[in-house]
Amino acid sequence: MRIRVPSYFKDFTCIASECEDTCCAGWSVVIDEQSYNDYQNVDGEFGQKLRSRIVEEDGDKVFVLNGENCSFLNENKLCEIYNELGEKSLCYTCRQYPRYMEEFFDLREMGISLSCPEAARIILGNDKVTVFELSEDDQLGDMEDSIDENALEDFFLCREIIINMIEMLNISLGIKAAAVLKFVEEIQDKIDFDEMDEVKYVIEKYSDSHFIEELINDLDQYEGNEVIKYHNVCAYFNTYRDLEHINTHDPLGLNKALKIFGEADSKSYINQHKAFNAYYKDNMYKFKNILVYFIFRYFMKCIFDYDMSAKIKIAIISTIMIKELAVVRWIENGQFTE
Ligand code: SF4
Repeated sequence: MRIRVPSYFKDFTCIASECEDTCCAGWSVVIDEQSYNDYQNVDGEFGQKLRSRIVEEDGDKVFVLNGENCSFLNENKLCEIYNELGEKSLCYTCRQYPRYMEEFFDLREMGISLSCPEAARIILGNDKVTVFELSEDDQLGDMEDSIDENALEDFFLCREIIINMIEMLNISLGIKAAAVLKFVEEIQDKIDFDEMDEVKYVIEKYSDSHFIEELINDLDQYEGNEVIKYHNVCAYFNTYRDLEHINTHDPLGLNKALKIFGEADSKSYINQHKAFNAYYKDNMYKFKNILVYFIFRYFMKCIFDYDMSAKIKIAIISTIMIKELAVVRWIENGQFTE
């Protein structure tokens, strides 16, 4: 099997007790069947403790929470299962996190999740183009898959074009995102009208650097519609506030953000936004990295539902939201740290 990972993948190591967050808080870790069965055979006092702290929740076996934390997270923020039984005895979720994986026939793609602070530091810290590395692992067999191989190849090419556009230098991220939306709109039309044979012509068109240059120049005229953007962002904040969050403490600070939006009129917010852009100009690549992360991680899921448009829109909206929350944080604190 071939393995594709972003080059920063190998740089990750869990910093355990040094972590300012912890992945064992605020949610119940679901235990896979193999680990659950293994836990039934652990001897001694720890074995008893282990079994006594597993409950059933919505049909899944999960570790009981101690307040907000996993009950095996000790006062030094270290995992007792890891301490007592070693890394191999962690359940699948704990062993993998923050690594994620997606498989397509003979290709496995892996990365690290932005939800882990240490992974986020690594992803955000790369001020170069994101490089993806391909290797072979003969130990791993290919997947049985019912997906269409031709469509898969086309969609991989689409993702490559999109990431190349987002990585273009000296062009604003907004313009690049608009170009990507235009490309995906054309591909989605071909999908929706059952013209999959024509997807390759759109790919060909967008592989031409002169065409991309002209498209970028055309889109440039739309930059600066900030009042519209202000109202849209306000609507996104309201929508996101009403979604289910990992805990009930407004982890994204959306209520605060809406308050700031409510207090500032569009003109003063836009001015503050511009001031943030100037303040943060040397670090703007971090938002580009976030968008590339979302695209690498989620875009190829379109092979399962052929809804490419939704994948790219959620990636762009999520990046916009993170940027806006950064602006809000900066307005509040007068500085913005990672
Ligand atoms: S969030 Fe990341 S760094 Fe922190 S404990 Fe979990 S895996 Fe380790």
